[in-house]
Amino acid sequence: MEFCPRCGKLMTPVRKEGKVVLKCINCGYEEEPRSEKKLVIKHEVQHSPQERTVVIEERKIDLSATVKAKCPRCGYNRAYFWMVQTRAADEPSTRFFKCARCGYVWREYD
Ligand SMILES: [Zn+2]
Ligand SMILES: [Zn+2]
Repeated sequence: MEFCPRCGKLMTPVRKEGKVVLKCINCGYEEEPRSEKKLVIKHEVQHSPQERTVVIEERKIDLSATVKAKCPRCGYNRAYFWMVQTRAADEPSTRFFKCARCGYVWREYD
């Protein structure tokens, strides 16, 4: 809830030129809603359980082959790996490694 900085009355969301602005019915003061950002964050949160599902599924599929990668824990140089597109398509996908000897899992960015 937003209150008018001029008169202190409750601001009401109204449609104006294709977007929603907050308007004070009492004195006519208008403001770009700060809640627009909140809506975006809410959207991302809703997606995260889905992302987790993708990670689990790809782990099942791609654990068949090993690549040359040094385990940061035991120093062994063979590891399973799989790629996960964790976020939007314009962000780099994350590469996960799992040590073939000790099972340690770590991630690397391209
Ligand atoms: Zn007002
Ligand atoms: Zn290891």
